[in-house]
Amino acid sequence: MDDYTVLRMIGEGSFGRALLVQHESSNQMFAMKEIRLPKSFSNTQNSRKEAVLLAKMKHPNIVAFKESFEAEGHLYIVMEYCDGGDLMQKIKQQKGKLFPEDMILNWFTQMCLGVNHIHKKRVLHRDIKSKNIFLTQNGKVKLGDFGSARLLSSQMAFACTYVGTPYYVPPEIWENLPYNNKSDIWSLGCILYELCTLRHPFQANSWKNLILKVCQGSISPLPSHYSYELQFLVKQMFKRNPSHRPSATTLLSQGVIARLVQKCLPPEIIMEYGEEVLEEIKNSKHNTPRKKTPPCTSGRIRL
Ligand code: ADP
Ligand code: MG
Repeated sequence: MDDYTVLRMIGEGSFGRALLVQHESSNQMFAMKEIRLPKSFSNTQNSRKEAVLLAKMKHPNIVAFKESFEAEGHLYIVMEYCDGGDLMQKIKQQKGKLFPEDMILNWFTQMCLGVNHIHKKRVLHRDIKSKNIFLTQNGKVKLGDFGSARLLSSQMAFACTYVGTPYYVPPEIWENLPYNNKSDIWSLGCILYELCTLRHPFQANSWKNLILKVCQGSISPLPSHYSYELQFLVKQMFKRNPSHRPSATTLLSQGVIARLVQKCLPPEIIMEYGEEVLEEIKNSKHNTPRKKTPPCTSGRIRL
Protein backbone atom coordinates (compact mmCIF):
# COMPACT_ATOMS: atom_id res chain seq x y z
CA MET A 1 0.00 0.00 0.00
CA ASP A 2 2.93 2.32 0.77
CA ASP A 3 3.95 2.12 -2.89
CA TYR A 4 0.82 4.00 -3.93
CA THR A 5 -0.63 7.46 -3.27
CA VAL A 6 -4.42 7.65 -3.28
CA LEU A 7 -5.59 10.48 -5.56
CA ARG A 8 -9.37 10.07 -5.36
CA MET A 9 -12.24 7.64 -5.13
CA ILE A 10 -13.63 6.52 -8.49
CA GLY A 11 -16.27 4.03 -7.39
CA GLU A 12 -18.02 2.66 -4.36
CA GLY A 13 -19.92 -0.57 -3.91
CA SER A 14 -20.94 -3.18 -1.41
CA PHE A 15 -17.40 -4.69 -1.67
CA GLY A 16 -15.62 -1.50 -0.62
CA ARG A 17 -14.12 1.19 -2.85
CA ALA A 18 -12.35 1.72 -6.15
CA LEU A 19 -9.57 4.31 -5.96
CA LEU A 20 -7.44 6.17 -8.46
CA VAL A 21 -3.85 5.78 -7.24
CA GLN A 22 -0.39 6.80 -8.36
CA HIS A 23 2.55 4.44 -8.16
CA GLU A 24 5.28 6.21 -6.15
CA SER A 25 8.34 5.20 -8.14
CA SER A 26 6.95 5.16 -11.68
CA ASN A 27 4.33 7.96 -11.27
CA GLN A 28 1.96 5.76 -13.28
CA MET A 29 -1.76 5.90 -12.49
CA PHE A 30 -3.71 2.77 -11.61
CA ALA A 31 -7.15 1.83 -10.40
CA MET A 32 -7.08 0.07 -7.05
CA LYS A 33 -10.04 -1.91 -5.79
CA GLU A 34 -10.15 -2.12 -2.00
CA ILE A 35 -12.26 -5.05 -0.88
CA ARG A 36 -13.19 -5.67 2.76
CA LEU A 37 -12.32 -9.27 3.48
CA PRO A 38 -15.10 -11.20 5.20
CA LYS A 39 -14.40 -12.91 8.53
CA SER A 40 -15.08 -16.49 7.45
CA PHE A 41 -12.38 -18.41 5.60
CA SER A 42 -14.60 -19.65 2.75
CA ASN A 43 -15.96 -16.16 2.05
CA THR A 44 -12.43 -14.79 2.10
CA GLN A 45 -11.40 -17.40 -0.44
CA ASN A 46 -14.35 -16.28 -2.57
CA SER A 47 -13.21 -12.65 -2.49
CA ARG A 48 -9.73 -13.70 -3.55
CA LYS A 49 -11.14 -15.33 -6.68
CA GLU A 50 -11.58 -11.93 -8.31
CA ALA A 51 -7.85 -11.22 -8.11
CA VAL A 52 -6.89 -14.77 -9.07
CA LEU A 53 -9.09 -14.77 -12.18
CA LEU A 54 -8.22 -11.25 -13.30
CA ALA A 55 -4.53 -12.10 -12.96
CA LYS A 56 -4.99 -14.94 -15.46
CA MET A 57 -6.27 -12.62 -18.17
CA LYS A 58 -4.05 -10.84 -20.59
CA HIS A 59 -5.82 -9.16 -23.45
CA PRO A 60 -6.16 -5.58 -24.78
CA ASN A 61 -9.92 -5.76 -24.16
CA ILE A 62 -9.68 -6.90 -20.54
CA VAL A 63 -8.66 -4.52 -17.77
CA ALA A 64 -5.00 -5.37 -17.15
CA PHE A 65 -4.03 -6.74 -13.76
CA LYS A 66 -0.90 -5.33 -12.07
CA GLU A 67 -0.76 -6.90 -8.63
CA SER A 68 -2.81 -7.75 -5.58
CA PHE A 69 -2.01 -7.81 -1.89
CA GLU A 70 -3.70 -7.96 1.48
CA ALA A 71 -3.36 -5.55 4.39
CA GLU A 72 -5.40 -4.83 7.51
CA GLY A 73 -8.38 -6.97 6.61
CA HIS A 74 -8.58 -5.72 3.02
CA LEU A 75 -7.72 -7.17 -0.34
CA TYR A 76 -6.24 -4.69 -2.81
CA ILE A 77 -6.35 -5.30 -6.54
CA VAL A 78 -4.21 -2.94 -8.60
CA MET A 79 -5.11 -2.72 -12.27
CA GLU A 80 -4.91 -0.55 -15.34
CA TYR A 81 -6.88 2.70 -14.97
CA CYS A 82 -9.44 3.28 -17.73
CA ASP A 83 -9.70 7.04 -18.11
CA GLY A 84 -12.87 7.15 -20.24
CA GLY A 85 -15.37 6.10 -17.58
CA ASP A 86 -17.80 3.22 -18.01
CA LEU A 87 -20.21 2.46 -20.83
CA MET A 88 -23.27 3.13 -18.67
CA GLN A 89 -22.10 6.70 -18.08
CA LYS A 90 -21.36 7.06 -21.78
CA ILE A 91 -24.89 5.92 -22.69
CA LYS A 92 -26.40 8.36 -20.18
CA GLN A 93 -24.31 11.23 -21.54
CA GLN A 94 -25.90 10.74 -24.96
CA LYS A 95 -29.17 12.22 -23.59
CA GLY A 96 -31.19 10.34 -26.19
CA LYS A 97 -28.90 10.93 -29.19
CA LEU A 98 -28.32 7.54 -30.82
CA PHE A 99 -24.79 6.27 -31.45
CA PRO A 100 -23.67 5.81 -35.07
CA GLU A 101 -23.67 2.17 -36.18
CA ASP A 102 -19.94 2.02 -36.90
CA MET A 103 -19.16 3.14 -33.36
CA ILE A 104 -21.53 0.51 -31.90
CA LEU A 105 -19.97 -2.22 -34.02
CA ASN A 106 -16.43 -1.20 -33.14
CA TRP A 107 -17.18 -1.26 -29.40
CA PHE A 108 -19.13 -4.48 -29.73
CA THR A 109 -16.27 -6.18 -31.60
CA GLN A 110 -13.85 -5.21 -28.83
CA MET A 111 -16.24 -6.59 -26.20
CA CYS A 112 -16.57 -9.85 -28.14
CA LEU A 113 -12.78 -10.12 -28.27
CA GLY A 114 -12.57 -9.68 -24.50
CA VAL A 115 -15.37 -12.18 -23.82
CA ASN A 116 -13.83 -14.65 -26.26
CA HIS A 117 -10.56 -14.42 -24.37
CA ILE A 118 -12.09 -15.23 -20.99
CA HIS A 119 -14.27 -18.03 -22.38
CA LYS A 120 -11.21 -19.62 -23.98
CA LYS A 121 -9.76 -19.74 -20.49
CA ARG A 122 -13.00 -21.33 -19.25
CA VAL A 123 -13.86 -18.29 -17.18
CA LEU A 124 -17.43 -17.01 -17.04
CA HIS A 125 -17.83 -13.34 -16.16
CA ARG A 126 -21.44 -13.60 -14.91
CA ASP A 127 -21.93 -9.85 -14.50
CA ILE A 128 -21.55 -8.43 -17.99
CA LYS A 129 -23.34 -5.07 -18.04
CA SER A 130 -22.63 -1.59 -19.37
CA LYS A 131 -21.38 -0.48 -15.93
CA ASN A 132 -18.66 -3.13 -16.04
CA ILE A 133 -17.39 -2.14 -19.47
CA PHE A 134 -14.66 0.46 -19.08
CA LEU A 135 -13.48 2.90 -21.73
CA THR A 136 -10.23 4.70 -22.43
CA GLN A 137 -9.85 8.14 -23.99
CA ASN A 138 -8.25 6.55 -27.05
CA GLY A 139 -11.31 4.47 -27.92
CA LYS A 140 -10.41 1.17 -26.28
CA VAL A 141 -13.12 -0.88 -24.61
CA LYS A 142 -12.25 -3.17 -21.69
CA LEU A 143 -14.19 -5.74 -19.79
CA GLY A 144 -13.71 -5.23 -16.04
CA ASP A 145 -15.07 -6.17 -12.61
CA PHE A 146 -14.37 -9.88 -12.22
CA GLY A 147 -16.07 -9.87 -8.81
CA SER A 148 -18.69 -12.40 -9.93
CA ALA A 149 -16.49 -14.35 -12.34
CA ARG A 150 -15.93 -18.08 -11.87
CA LEU A 151 -13.82 -20.76 -13.45
CA LEU A 152 -16.05 -23.28 -15.17
CA SER A 153 -15.26 -26.52 -13.41
CA SER A 154 -18.62 -27.91 -12.52
CA GLN A 155 -21.67 -26.59 -14.36
CA MET A 156 -24.08 -27.33 -11.58
CA ALA A 157 -22.07 -25.24 -9.16
CA PHE A 158 -23.52 -22.19 -10.89
CA ALA A 159 -27.16 -23.14 -10.73
CA CYS A 160 -27.85 -21.43 -7.44
CA THR A 161 -25.01 -19.00 -6.93
CA TYR A 162 -25.66 -16.46 -9.67
CA VAL A 163 -25.83 -12.84 -8.51
CA GLY A 164 -26.10 -10.60 -11.55
CA THR A 165 -27.89 -7.35 -12.24
CA PRO A 166 -31.52 -8.26 -13.02
CA TYR A 167 -31.75 -6.42 -16.36
CA TYR A 168 -28.97 -8.56 -17.81
CA VAL A 169 -29.91 -11.93 -16.33
CA PRO A 170 -30.76 -14.54 -18.99
CA PRO A 171 -33.93 -16.68 -18.89
CA GLU A 172 -32.10 -19.90 -17.94
CA ILE A 173 -31.03 -18.39 -14.64
CA TRP A 174 -34.59 -17.42 -13.71
CA GLU A 175 -35.51 -21.00 -14.57
CA ASN A 176 -32.81 -22.22 -12.22
CA LEU A 177 -30.75 -23.84 -14.96
CA PRO A 178 -26.95 -23.77 -14.96
CA TYR A 179 -25.05 -20.66 -15.91
CA ASN A 180 -22.89 -21.24 -18.98
CA ASN A 181 -20.86 -19.31 -21.55
CA LYS A 182 -24.03 -18.49 -23.50
CA SER A 183 -25.45 -16.77 -20.43
CA ASP A 184 -22.62 -14.23 -20.77
CA ILE A 185 -23.62 -13.91 -24.44
CA TRP A 186 -27.20 -12.99 -23.46
CA SER A 187 -25.84 -10.23 -21.19
CA LEU A 188 -23.56 -9.05 -24.00
CA GLY A 189 -26.67 -8.92 -26.21
CA CYS A 190 -28.31 -6.68 -23.61
CA ILE A 191 -25.38 -4.26 -23.93
CA LEU A 192 -25.55 -4.32 -27.73
CA TYR A 193 -29.28 -3.52 -27.51
CA GLU A 194 -28.57 -0.72 -25.01
CA LEU A 195 -25.97 0.76 -27.37
CA CYS A 196 -28.54 0.81 -30.18
CA THR A 197 -31.53 2.15 -28.25
CA LEU A 198 -30.01 3.73 -25.10
CA ARG A 199 -32.47 1.60 -23.09
CA HIS A 200 -32.49 -1.85 -21.54
CA PRO A 201 -34.10 -4.49 -23.77
CA PHE A 202 -36.29 -5.73 -20.93
CA GLN A 203 -37.81 -3.23 -18.56
CA ALA A 204 -40.73 -3.55 -16.18
CA ASN A 205 -42.20 -2.00 -13.07
CA SER A 206 -41.64 -5.10 -10.93
CA TRP A 207 -39.27 -8.03 -10.66
CA LYS A 208 -42.06 -10.41 -11.56
CA ASN A 209 -42.88 -8.55 -14.78
CA LEU A 210 -39.20 -8.20 -15.65
CA ILE A 211 -38.65 -11.94 -15.28
CA LEU A 212 -41.77 -12.62 -17.36
CA LYS A 213 -40.52 -10.35 -20.15
CA VAL A 214 -37.04 -11.90 -20.12
CA CYS A 215 -38.46 -15.41 -20.23
CA GLN A 216 -40.79 -14.50 -23.12
CA GLY A 217 -37.75 -12.99 -24.81
CA SER A 218 -39.66 -10.54 -26.97
CA ILE A 219 -37.99 -7.20 -27.58
CA SER A 220 -38.95 -4.04 -29.45
CA PRO A 221 -37.08 -3.78 -32.75
CA LEU A 222 -34.04 -1.53 -33.05
CA PRO A 223 -34.50 1.91 -34.62
CA SER A 224 -35.08 1.25 -38.31
CA HIS A 225 -32.00 3.07 -39.61
CA TYR A 226 -29.74 0.37 -38.14
CA SER A 227 -28.75 -2.35 -40.59
CA TYR A 228 -30.47 -5.69 -40.95
CA GLU A 229 -27.24 -7.34 -39.85
CA LEU A 230 -27.27 -5.49 -36.53
CA GLN A 231 -30.92 -6.43 -35.97
CA PHE A 232 -30.06 -10.04 -36.80
CA LEU A 233 -27.13 -10.04 -34.38
CA VAL A 234 -29.34 -8.87 -31.51
CA LYS A 235 -31.98 -11.47 -32.34
CA GLN A 236 -29.42 -14.29 -32.30
CA MET A 237 -28.06 -13.29 -28.91
CA PHE A 238 -31.57 -13.27 -27.40
CA LYS A 239 -32.41 -16.86 -28.34
CA ARG A 240 -34.20 -18.37 -25.38
CA ASN A 241 -32.33 -21.63 -25.71
CA PRO A 242 -28.70 -20.91 -24.74
CA SER A 243 -27.36 -23.48 -27.17
CA HIS A 244 -28.94 -21.53 -30.05
CA ARG A 245 -27.05 -18.36 -29.14
CA PRO A 246 -23.73 -17.78 -30.92
CA SER A 247 -20.52 -18.20 -28.92
CA ALA A 248 -18.07 -15.29 -28.79
CA THR A 249 -15.91 -17.12 -31.35
CA THR A 250 -18.88 -17.48 -33.68
CA LEU A 251 -19.79 -13.80 -33.28
CA LEU A 252 -16.23 -12.85 -34.19
CA SER A 253 -16.11 -15.10 -37.21
CA GLN A 254 -19.29 -13.96 -38.95
CA GLY A 255 -20.44 -11.13 -41.18
CA VAL A 256 -19.78 -7.55 -40.27
CA ILE A 257 -17.93 -8.37 -37.03
CA ALA A 258 -15.49 -10.67 -38.84
CA ARG A 259 -14.79 -7.91 -41.35
CA LEU A 260 -14.20 -5.45 -38.51
CA VAL A 261 -11.81 -7.79 -36.73
CA GLN A 262 -9.78 -8.10 -39.91
CA LYS A 263 -9.95 -4.48 -41.04
CA CYS A 264 -10.21 -2.25 -38.01
CA LEU A 265 -8.28 -3.89 -35.24
CA PRO A 266 -4.51 -3.82 -34.89
CA PRO A 267 -2.62 -6.98 -35.89
CA GLU A 268 -1.48 -7.69 -32.32
CA ILE A 269 -5.11 -8.19 -31.30
CA ILE A 270 -5.71 -10.55 -34.19
CA MET A 271 -2.58 -12.43 -33.09
CA GLU A 272 -3.87 -12.49 -29.56
CA TYR A 273 -7.17 -14.07 -30.30
CA GLY A 274 -5.62 -16.75 -32.30
CA GLU A 275 -5.54 -18.60 -35.54
CA GLU A 276 -8.63 -20.59 -34.69
CA VAL A 277 -10.98 -17.68 -35.30
CA LEU A 278 -9.18 -16.49 -38.41
CA GLU A 279 -9.53 -20.02 -39.71
CA GLU A 280 -13.26 -19.85 -39.02
CA ILE A 281 -13.48 -16.52 -40.83
CA LYS A 282 -11.79 -18.11 -43.86
CA ASN A 283 -14.14 -21.06 -43.73
CA SER A 284 -17.18 -18.85 -43.59
CA LYS A 285 -16.30 -16.76 -46.65
CA HIS A 286 -19.75 -17.23 -48.06
CA ASN A 287 -21.45 -16.72 -44.77
CA THR A 288 -24.63 -14.75 -44.63
CA PRO A 289 -26.35 -13.54 -41.49
CA ARG A 290 -28.45 -16.67 -41.74
CA LYS A 291 -25.54 -18.97 -41.07
CA LYS A 292 -26.58 -21.42 -38.39
CA THR A 293 -24.67 -21.68 -35.16
CA PRO A 294 -23.51 -25.25 -34.67
CA PRO A 295 -25.39 -26.94 -31.88
CA CYS A 296 -23.67 -27.09 -28.54
CA THR A 297 -24.09 -29.59 -25.76
CA SER A 298 -25.76 -27.81 -22.91
CA GLY A 299 -23.56 -25.60 -20.83
CA ARG A 300 -20.22 -26.70 -22.30
CA ILE A 301 -17.81 -24.07 -23.42
CA ARG A 302 -16.96 -24.72 -27.01
CA LEU A 303 -14.33 -22.24 -28.07
P1 ADP B 1 -18.38 -3.28 -8.20
O1 ADP B 1 -19.28 -3.16 -9.39
O2 ADP B 1 -18.28 -4.65 -7.65
O3 ADP B 1 -18.75 -2.23 -7.19
P2 ADP B 1 -16.19 -2.49 -10.01
O4 ADP B 1 -14.94 -3.27 -10.21
O5 ADP B 1 -17.15 -2.47 -11.14
O6 ADP B 1 -16.87 -2.96 -8.64
O7 ADP B 1 -15.78 -0.99 -9.65
C1 ADP B 1 -16.74 -0.01 -9.29
C2 ADP B 1 -16.61 1.23 -10.18
O8 ADP B 1 -15.30 1.79 -10.05
C3 ADP B 1 -16.79 0.93 -11.67
O9 ADP B 1 -18.13 0.96 -12.10
C4 ADP B 1 -15.97 2.06 -12.30
O10 ADP B 1 -16.73 3.25 -12.38
C5 ADP B 1 -14.83 2.25 -11.30
N1 ADP B 1 -13.66 1.43 -11.73
C6 ADP B 1 -13.34 0.18 -11.30
N2 ADP B 1 -12.23 -0.29 -11.91
C7 ADP B 1 -11.82 0.69 -12.75
C8 ADP B 1 -10.72 0.82 -13.66
N3 ADP B 1 -9.84 -0.16 -13.83
N4 ADP B 1 -10.62 1.97 -14.35
C9 ADP B 1 -11.52 2.96 -14.19
N5 ADP B 1 -12.58 2.91 -13.36
C10 ADP B 1 -12.74 1.78 -12.63
MG1 MG C 1 -19.04 -3.31 -11.28
